[in-house]
Amino acid sequence: MTRLVLVGPPGAGKGTQAVALSQRLSIPHISTGDLFRAHVAEQTPLGEEAKRYLDSGELVPDSVTNEMVRERLAESDTKAGFLLDGFPRNTKQAEVLGEMLAESDSALDAVIQLDVPEDVLVERLLGRGRTDDTEEVIRRRQQVYQSETAPLLDYYRDILVKVDGVGEVDEVSSRIVNALDARA
Ligand code: AMP
Repeated sequence: MTRLVLVGPPGAGKGTQAVALSQRLSIPHISTGDLFRAHVAEQTPLGEEAKRYLDSGELVPDSVTNEMVRERLAESDTKAGFLLDGFPRNTKQAEVLGEMLAESDSALDAVIQLDVPEDVLVERLLGRGRTDDTEEVIRRRQQVYQSETAPLLDYYRDILVKVDGVGEVDEVSSRIVNALDARA
């Protein structure tokens, strides 16, 4: 059973690594960004509400985000573990996640920090071409990461596994798997 969170600034390769890692570890990949984008595409009420936040690079309100995650974590495929990507994004969400897991007597096993230097981040984001990848929104998402999300690294210091995120996809995912094994 492996319950993991992947943390890193926008452009660190979280999405790519999450896909690779969820395959290697046979656990579902839960990306709140992907869930929001699916709601926006399907024009659900949640999507209508979330859209302006995604478009501006701001965080969707915790109440909306936490409920969406609660529902996802209630699905049976997460019993074998999960890999959260993009959640939690602030310490309040982290507290709520802790409470949700405690309800089923579980807890996170590790929080993986993908470490990537800033010049590499900007280069990757500009090459990605997502609709929220304009320069202004990218800059805002980086600010939000620094002020809201970076404090999680301290919050999770006891279970934090810091991994160098620069390199080929397989190389980085092997580094993550090795770092997790080394802890076990
Ligand atoms: P991502 O795909 O993780 O880069 O997320 C894209 C956008 O979705 C973010 O800029 C936020 O607007 C929203 N989002 C994703 N995850 C969260 C979260 N945990 N809390 C609030 N907003 C989020």
